[in-house]
Amino acid sequence: MKLPPFDYACPESVADAVALLAAHDDAKPLAGGQSLVPMLAFRVASPSLVVDLRKLKDLQQIKISANGVTLGAMVRWCDILEDAKLRTAHPLLVAAVKHVAHYQIRNRGTVGGSLAHADPAAELPCIAVACEAEIAVAGKAATRTIAVADFFKGPLMTALAGDEIITELRLPPWPAARRFGFEEFARRQGDFAIAGAAVYYDLDGGGKARNVHVGAIGVADRPLRLHAAENALNGKTVDEAAIAAAAAAASAEVDPPDDIHASGAYRRALIGTMVERALNAAAAA
Ligand SMILES: Cc1cc2nc3c(=O)[nH]c(=O)nc-3n(C[C@H](O)[C@H](O)[C@H](O)COP(=O)(O)OP(=O)(O)OC[C@H]3O[C@@H](n4cnc5c(N)ncnc54)[C@H](O)[C@@H]3O)c2cc1C
Repeated sequence: MKLPPFDYACPESVADAVALLAAHDDAKPLAGGQSLVPMLAFRVASPSLVVDLRKLKDLQQIKISANGVTLGAMVRWCDILEDAKLRTAHPLLVAAVKHVAHYQIRNRGTVGGSLAHADPAAELPCIAVACEAEIAVAGKAATRTIAVADFFKGPLMTALAGDEIITELRLPPWPAARRFGFEEFARRQGDFAIAGAAVYYDLDGGGKARNVHVGAIGVADRPLRLHAAENALNGKTVDEAAIAAAAAAASAEVDPPDDIHASGAYRRALIGTMVERALNAAAAA
C-alpha cells in the first residue's frame, strides 16, 4: 500500500532532531520503521514530517558498567542478541528479546521504537517495567528521566511530549547470582505474545526468595508489575507450593478484556501458567 505524502529529514544530532519535532506539531521520529511504516500504510499515522534518527550515532551504543546496562534508543534487537557481554550483564533482557518477531524485524527494530510504540504485548516494555528501568528523553528545551512506571499510559500511548525523543533505556545492575525466567505464549514463533511473564528474584542467606519482581504483558492496556504475585513469593522457599501460590495470585490480580485474539478469561489463566513456568525456570537454574 502506498504511504501518504510526508516531508523527510535526517538530522545528524539529537538537538537538530528535537528542534525539527518541535517545529512541526505532527512530525514523527523514524527508527527501524517496523511499526511506523505499517502505520503510515494503514493511515493510522499521517505526519507531515518524518524525522529519521538513523544518523544519531550516540543513540546506537550499549554501555555496561557498575551502574547497570544502558541501551541507546537506536540499539536494534540484533545488536542485543549479538552482544556477548549482555548475556551475563542482563540475561533476562536477552532471554526476552529472543522472542521478538523474526530475523528481518530484529535486524531493524529498535529499543526506542519499541518503547515509544508501547504495544501492550511487546517484550522490552515488560523487561523495563519488571526491572524498574528509567527512560532518558531529550526535548527541545530540556532532557529528563522518566521512571518506567510513569511512562506507559495505554496502548500506543506514553508520557513522551511531541518534541521529545527517547535517547536511552537504563536498566539497574544485575547481580550474577540472580534467578530469572521469561516465558510467553504466542500462536506462532515470532508473533506478539498473547501473554508473557518476566520474573526474577534474589536468594537470602537462608535460601528464601527476596526482591521478587514479576512483569506481565498481554493482560492489560500496558505492561504491568504483578505485586500480589511478588508478595506471594517474597520471603518463601521457592518450591512447588510457593510457585503455585504466586501463579494463582498473578491470575487473580489481572482483569484482561476479551479481544479478537483471546478471551479475558483465557488470558487470565494463561498469565498464571506463564508466571509458573518462568518461576520454575528460575528455580531450576
Ligand atoms: C510482523 C511484525 C512482528 C513483530 N513482532 C514483535 C514482537 O513479537 N515483539 C515486539 O516487541 N515487537 C514486535 N514487532 C515490533 C518491532 O519489534 C519493533 O520494535 C517496533 O516496530 C518498533 O521499533 P522500530 O525501531 O521499528 O520503530 P519505528 O517503527 O520506527 O517507530 C515506532 C514508533 O516509535 C516512535 N519512535 C521511534 N523511535 C523513537 C525514539 N527514539 N523516540 C521517540 N519516539 C520514537 C515512532 O515515531 C513511531 O511512533 C513486530 C513488528 C512486525 C512488523
